[in-house]
Amino acid sequence: MIVVLFGPPGVGKGTQASRLAKHFNFEKFSMGDILREEVAIRSESGKKAEVYMSQGVLVPDMLIFEIVDNFLLANKDTSILFDGFPRNLNQAISLNTSLSRLGLKPRLALDMDLAEKEIIARLVNRRYCPACNRLYNLVSNPPAKNEICNQCGKPLIKRPDDHEAVIQKRLQVYRDETAPLTRYYKSMNCYQKINAIGSEDEIFNNIVQIINAHNTKK
Ligand code: AMP
Repeated sequence: MIVVLFGPPGVGKGTQASRLAKHFNFEKFSMGDILREEVAIRSESGKKAEVYMSQGVLVPDMLIFEIVDNFLLANKDTSILFDGFPRNLNQAISLNTSLSRLGLKPRLALDMDLAEKEIIARLVNRRYCPACNRLYNLVSNPPAKNEICNQCGKPLIKRPDDHEAVIQKRLQVYRDETAPLTRYYKSMNCYQKINAIGSEDEIFNNIVQIINAHNTKK
């Protein structure tokens, strides 16, 4: 089963993607995490991607497609949850082409929806652990010790793109480039809007129900 999870930055995609992958045994493909890892190890693609990521704009499709194609080659027989990919129409069409070569197509495109005011409040308080990638929110989901990861004891950090000026840019990119995926996936009859207000558990349980209702098909 192929599931695509999209929505504006800060809506909770990363958190839900990790829980859903564990619950359904999906292979999780989180484009933002992969790119941040490339940046951290100073690979050639990481150095190129960093320039775009720090400005809150999308990394060029060519770089993205290389990463996706390698992932699909290695995971062609598994159920996949795409988180943060596709992020524009060109990427969505390319994903469809790659999947159809393998006899597959997205079964569900889940669009997490939240008001921009709430998104900004979440992003400025977001922190993550650079060692295990665990996400926190200093207001709604703080660590037990001040800005220290519960899991591995490392100091939490704020993503360089979680500052308000960059957040505004990312929201604009979302409106211009990613939001049109709604119409595209509606036309493929796999679109499902998810209300992202509520507790993490409520949203998770809602998505689980939706995926279960589709899980019988390939
Ligand atoms: P995220 O962690 O999903 O918020 O992504 C962080 C940043 O990585 C984005 O602001 C983009 O610069 C880049 N990025 C993530 N996914 C993609 C994608 N599918 N296409 C292009 N750039 C991406």
